[in-house]
Amino acid sequence: MVQWEIMATAGGVDVRARMASICSGGGNAVEERNERAIRRAAELVGESSTIVVFTGAGVSTESGIPDFRSPGGIWSKYQPVEFGEFLAKREARERYWIRSRETYPSLAEAQPNPAHLAIVELERMGKLDCVITQNIDGLHQKAGNSPEKVIELHGNTHWVECLNCNHWSPRSKWQKVLELGVAVPECPDCGGMLKVHTVSFGQPMPEQQTREAERRSRRCDLFIVVGSSLVVYPAAQIPALAVNSGARLVMVNLTRTHMDDHADAVIREKAGPALTLVLEQARQG
Ligand code: NAD
Repeated sequence: MVQWEIMATAGGVDVRARMASICSGGGNAVEERNERAIRRAAELVGESSTIVVFTGAGVSTESGIPDFRSPGGIWSKYQPVEFGEFLAKREARERYWIRSRETYPSLAEAQPNPAHLAIVELERMGKLDCVITQNIDGLHQKAGNSPEKVIELHGNTHWVECLNCNHWSPRSKWQKVLELGVAVPECPDCGGMLKVHTVSFGQPMPEQQTREAERRSRRCDLFIVVGSSLVVYPAAQIPALAVNSGARLVMVNLTRTHMDDHADAVIREKAGPALTLVLEQARQG
């Protein structure tokens, strides 16, 4: 119960008011569809024992981290720096570190929201096989998911690595250096190129994590997508692997995706209130 009280207020989101609004039905066709989808998702959670949750930027927007593609998203302010450019041009590395300097403080301060906490609840219920995340914000671990249950496909923004000697250091340590005016920091051990431990466009995906994500997806009985537009490949093809291997599929996303037609339940609602309700109904049976 304590957990649910926390969930009701976490992240400054008034989950109970939102839940009441969804549950009231009130003749609104979208809300009624969502209410049915939430009930169906809760049944599927109840029937399943090996659940994989796949998350994208949309699971963290209620924590104040903008996604890429919604209006006001990160791309409306910063042009992405491709990996090839990063390696080839100092000017690209300068742009990369400006964006990092400006966006890191809000990423460091962000707190998990009710959607992250609902996924922790799935782990407490013994049903969560793993969370496969495209996010780099570390909020699943901060919410309380066991680190070994979180597979990060695009890395983690809280670490910096040297591309030459593999020296690792916490990203927080570099914020002061950047704020003091260093435009492109260098490795303290070998003077090599430093980069945040996240996957840029054009940079290879981490092999071991990708293989593990595919393996887990093929053997789960329920696959839940939360807050992903499913347009970034190869991560976006993982839900299809699960469905083709016989898993049921639940989609929780504000906008339509190419997997909606293959889903057993499509919830077009904010992830925090939607997942809170799904978990609450699943626990009640
Ligand atoms: P995306 O920006 O392409 O799509 C986000 C999706 O989430 C959209 O379809 C949107 O409708 C939906 N959404 C937004 N808020 C929502 C909410 N409250 N509830 C439910 N749905 C919501 O993000 P993506 O699919 O993850 O792909 C973009 C890439 O950007 C990823 O590879 C990821 O690495 C990176 N990214 C990460 C973060 C982060 O770590 N928090 C933030 C921005 C981008």
